[in-house]
Amino acid sequence: MTDLTPSDKALVPFVSVDHMMQLIHHIGIEPMLQGLAEYIETDFKRWQLFDKTPRIASHSKEGVIELMPTSDGEVYGFKYVNGHPKNTAEGLQTVTAFGLLADVSSGYPVLLSEMTMLTAMRTAATSALVARVLAPKGAATMAMIGNGAQSEFQTLAMKAVCGITEVRLYDTDPAATRKCAANLQGQGMNVVSCSSAEEAILGAQIITTCTADKQYATILTDNMVGAGVHINAIGGDCPGKTELAPAILNRADIFVEYPDQTRIEGEIQQLAPDHPVTEIWEVMTGKAQGRTSDKQITLFDSVGFAIEDFSALRFVRDRIAGTGFYHPLDLLADPDDPRDLFGMLQRARS
Ligand code: NAD
Repeated sequence: MTDLTPSDKALVPFVSVDHMMQLIHHIGIEPMLQGLAEYIETDFKRWQLFDKTPRIASHSKEGVIELMPTSDGEVYGFKYVNGHPKNTAEGLQTVTAFGLLADVSSGYPVLLSEMTMLTAMRTAATSALVARVLAPKGAATMAMIGNGAQSEFQTLAMKAVCGITEVRLYDTDPAATRKCAANLQGQGMNVVSCSSAEEAILGAQIITTCTADKQYATILTDNMVGAGVHINAIGGDCPGKTELAPAILNRADIFVEYPDQTRIEGEIQQLAPDHPVTEIWEVMTGKAQGRTSDKQITLFDSVGFAIEDFSALRFVRDRIAGTGFYHPLDLLADPDDPRDLFGMLQRARS
């Protein structure tokens, strides 16, 4: 059904939140995280094919609304996403999203999808894919600092893709840690709730920071980070919104998605504009080195890039085929005579 036949070419498959959740359970959470990681890796390995631009951000006092477009020349995609750290206090999500794929040759949309769930899945899959390349060999324990909406997804992706067996949780709000620990019960991991960030990172080879605060925050200070760890920094993704002390950045080898965007939004906004970073696609294609020593601190300065959303939408498009997990949506006016749009309107009167 996603390869639309001429008779229904104007009906666009729409994946609602409900259908997305059914699709995720149909595939299985961990198999889907693994599948998304494969799709993202495939697209990272053909990085140079894509149109790339930093996302278009509209900032306000409370948050940001962003558009994230890209194309591989055959398919075009974009995501609408917001980031409003104050939302949770009002019972709203910090991050919500939806996205679209279109056929470049006709310009017709071929998929419209919710992307709040899908963003959590794709961000987690990207984190784990990168950690698989950069984390120390045999990493088994992760710290998860910030136990909000993304946290269980982040944790399960590290289990599914990297083989992590223990997670150590910390959040300034103990209710968030209780929620995260309860959700991770029975998922095949040892879950340890901690009362400080220092306690959470004890013995962890992978440290994920995934907090939300619209300021230069210091979730990790320099003295907390020992040699040899991999830091997966998720929450610093906006101008003026970072998580790590600059001294940690100066000790780490920094890996990014798309430097032009990360220098605006990532942890590296705190560094000189020419501070060396490695693009993660270059490590995946063998063009650049990843981890080179046991002592090295590797840092994935994640901000979320349009190609990851494109990969995730591609995955969904492929996987809804033959299922009932979408509504055909009457989104496009498509008169039989393409030049008779007005006639179509007139006929609708009757
Ligand atoms: P959320 O609001 O649901 O959760 C954030 C959690 O961080 C809350 O539980 C809060 O109590 C906790 N927190 C705040 N300050 C803290 C501190 N100093 N120490 C420990 N915990 C602290 O948000 P979410 O949807 O889980 O998103 C988390 C962050 O990830 C946001 O900043 C969001 O913008 C970002 N994000 C990044 C990407 C990406 O691709 N890099 C994708 C999605 C979300």
